[in-house]
Amino acid sequence: VPLPDPKDVDGPFETGCREPDTSQPREKAALVMLTRNKELEQAKHSVESIERHFNRWYHYPIVFFNDEEWDQRFIDELNATVSGEARFEVIPQDVWSFPPWIDVDKAKASIKDQGERGIAYGGLEGYHHMCRFYSGHFYTLPALKEFEWYWRLEPDVDFMCAITYDPFVEMRKRGKIYGYAQALWEVTESCPSLFMEMNDWKESHRIPTNNLWRAMMRPSWVPFPLRRLFAAPNRDHDRFGDTWSRCHYWSNFEIAKMEFFRSKEYQDLFEYLDKKGGFYYERWGDAPIHSLAVAMLVDPTKVHHFEDVGYRHDKFFQCPANAPGRQLPDSKLLGSDSYFEEIEGGSGCRCECDGRWTRNHQAYCLNKLKQPVSTYRPSFAWLR
Ligand code: GDP
Ligand code: MN
Repeated sequence: VPLPDPKDVDGPFETGCREPDTSQPREKAALVMLTRNKELEQAKHSVESIERHFNRWYHYPIVFFNDEEWDQRFIDELNATVSGEARFEVIPQDVWSFPPWIDVDKAKASIKDQGERGIAYGGLEGYHHMCRFYSGHFYTLPALKEFEWYWRLEPDVDFMCAITYDPFVEMRKRGKIYGYAQALWEVTESCPSLFMEMNDWKESHRIPTNNLWRAMMRPSWVPFPLRRLFAAPNRDHDRFGDTWSRCHYWSNFEIAKMEFFRSKEYQDLFEYLDKKGGFYYERWGDAPIHSLAVAMLVDPTKVHHFEDVGYRHDKFFQCPANAPGRQLPDSKLLGSDSYFEEIEGGSGCRCECDGRWTRNHQAYCLNKLKQPVSTYRPSFAWLR
């Protein structure tokens, strides 16, 4: 692996297309999708897309999770769609229900209230269980024990460019722990006390502040001696008066190393948060929890932005421009008629989207998180 350019510690693993190297050994990795029987069409859509753009060369197993028994029809149709093995797992009831320390009546009342207040998904009990599941128990499921890496998939997403290399292999080679495609803002109302709890844990464990954590903060504008005073009422700030900017990695796409999330440190943090009840009394998402935990505990150079992956979830998408002159001989495989321009500096391979346009909160959120070694607020460094 060539040494990284110090100005660009996190460039794309590959630029453009290469012949997929299918002879190289696979990692212990799985594609994973949590879904419901009623999302059959959407699940199939995502699987078709990832098979066409990646997995038809690598044949990684896909593990499907459900909180209910699977419909036979779902199993049959997805079995017919995957190019590798498909497994259909049911999540143990005890990790998909209110834990004993939660006041269930209070939680249900809060969930109802969140729904009435129009907090996205706040009124759906299942969504709360889902966020809690993906925040902690997902990583310790017996069904995933044999895997060291996962690529999270969701129903109704699109992959728009070919991924001709094995991202698990590349992540291992480069010591990466967490990979993401999009970053955007969390809705404050879904998790008003999350940052406070996270930061309390961070301070009580004396976790040093790194540049990625700083990049995720919104620095205080209040002069230093007055910060405590101004920030006091909701304690939504750290010792330096900074608060979380609400920028986070969007976890519906994730390629990551299980080891980090299985570590005692992360699982302790999860348990601490779980005991606070915010998965139910508020609607803490797994995305901000993963993001703040990664920012807090992972070396910034071990986080990777998959800028070469064309990806859509909901109305947000990332579309890399195609790299020039890197077409494979079999380029017709991916509808060559519909290619958009190849652009100098592009990193995509045979993208079927317009690389001049992407909806990824580019300027304010993603770019900030992409600067893990930036010299943020250098004149205040001595205060820390
Ligand atoms: P969004 O991505 O936040 O807009 O919400 P989604 O509706 O896509 O839910 C996120 C993920 O959780 C998807 O993979 C859903 O299939 C899954 N999910 C959400 N609620 C439930 C549930 O009650 N049961 C199951 N099995 N999966 C769920
Ligand atoms: Mn979704």
